[in-house]
Amino acid sequence: MSCPVSVLRCKYNIVFDLDEVLCIDTVGSGQAPFFKDRGLILDAICPHYIFPGAKELIAFLYRMDEIRVSFFSAGRDIRNEPLVHALLKSSLSKQEYEKIKEGVQIYSRQHTTEDTPAEKEDFSKCFGVYKQKKRKNLQSIPKNGESLEDTVLIDDDHTNILVGQIKNHLFVERTEARHFESLRTDPKDNVHIVNRIYYVAGLLFAAINKSKVENIFLSEALFRIQYKLKENQEKFHFREEILSEDLYYRLGLETLRAIKPDLQFTTRESYLASVGRPQTAEEVAYFEDLIRQKKEIDEVYLPR
Ligand SMILES: [Mg+2]
Repeated sequence: MSCPVSVLRCKYNIVFDLDEVLCIDTVGSGQAPFFKDRGLILDAICPHYIFPGAKELIAFLYRMDEIRVSFFSAGRDIRNEPLVHALLKSSLSKQEYEKIKEGVQIYSRQHTTEDTPAEKEDFSKCFGVYKQKKRKNLQSIPKNGESLEDTVLIDDDHTNILVGQIKNHLFVERTEARHFESLRTDPKDNVHIVNRIYYVAGLLFAAINKSKVENIFLSEALFRIQYKLKENQEKFHFREEILSEDLYYRLGLETLRAIKPDLQFTTRESYLASVGRPQTAEEVAYFEDLIRQKKEIDEVYLPR
């Protein structure tokens, strides 16, 4: 399989947040056909809708010898575990899944930590005000011989990570159901948002490549791509404009075509073709059932 980076050693830890990065658990009425047509509805306590490209990204990373994939969501383990396994099962071949299923590391709400006094101070300094929250400390994720500096958390919230681990954060702005729906009226503003998976893939591959070419840690490579020095040269700032740099989306899509050659960006046209198509009576009942399942689960258990 063609690969954008040469396989030298197994060293990178890629940690995925789940909600609004790989999937959502709520869609608007009429949106489910878009996900059903692409085989992207998975059951994990309630229906979850996987973003197009996410399965291909998972499959690609699992085939790279130098990468170990883990998951860290502040949701509860009783939802996270079936969700991750459903996602892996549908992304990998049966043979691949059987081989890795025992070793999958899934970190959940009980693994998030309170800030120490020093971490509180760091946070206030960095963000101006303190925001109390349990955070995802990546310290315990690297296993024998792996390093924290080559560990990356892909997450949609800057405040989920410790300030001291900001270099380890691949930030991706969250994608929600409403962004898909907005393709109807504002395709230009939303086309990047509904294709964030390709951005994540492209940015990750670019950072891995940079870390090799410049012989620096993956976290440092990511930091140099995502952040810039402000004019006063004292503080680093996230480059907001990076989220609309086409280069990363294209690199991600082209790379993931190694897994699925006909993979395409989600467009207004492809969205409307699914949500506007006629539905059979069975489908109508199925879509109604998805909404009923979610409603029921919300009454007894909130995943977040
Ligand atoms: Mg999230």
